[in-house]
Amino acid sequence: MSDAKNAEKNTRKKPKTGAGRPSREQAEDAVRVLLRWAGDDPAREGLIDTPARVVRAYEEFFAGYDHDPREILSRTFSEVDGYDEMIVLKDIRFESYCEHHMVPIIGRAHVAYLPEHRVVGISKLARLVDAFAKRLQIQEKMTAQIADTLNEVLQPKGVGVILEAAHQCMSTRGVHKAGVTMVTSRMLGTFRSDPSTRREFLAIVGNPGVMSVPNT
Ligand SMILES: [Zn+2]
Repeated sequence: MSDAKNAEKNTRKKPKTGAGRPSREQAEDAVRVLLRWAGDDPAREGLIDTPARVVRAYEEFFAGYDHDPREILSRTFSEVDGYDEMIVLKDIRFESYCEHHMVPIIGRAHVAYLPEHRVVGISKLARLVDAFAKRLQIQEKMTAQIADTLNEVLQPKGVGVILEAAHQCMSTRGVHKAGVTMVTSRMLGTFRSDPSTRREFLAIVGNPGVMSVPNT
């Protein structure tokens, strides 16, 4: 098994069983109820396998609950040869789910930090975003969770996180406004206290809200 696969496996928490978690059959039955609620017949040919597919899709959509975000960042490198400039991973596409309507929130995350002593492998920043995205979320909370976890585990000089996303609960229902992007940010340490650090981050990222977010 490759190191990456091992790392992936190690951050997986034990699947939640027992205590209040319904069985797969119960989850599939719940999908049948929603199909009937929508006005369709779960017994017709085209829908017969739908409950099983939906439940499998849920395992992907909500895989974040099985990952410990702190564990993802736990392997750090301290030999950085004095590198003390900003590290930015930008345009990290994420798919999340609105906790009020359970429909997709699709967007990009830009994650930056100014290392003090330790850095993480860059793919870990993307996996950190996914660990929080693959849950029921609100964008504001997800932004804070990513920034706070990075700050607590790496203890860098500063952290900057910007999320820009389209919310399907706004575009496909309710006010039906497509093409609207929500931008949230959290700046910690030098990203908050030093305007030149913040400016540098914003310059690298571009102009949040102007870049195209998948219009869903
Ligand atoms: Zn919503």
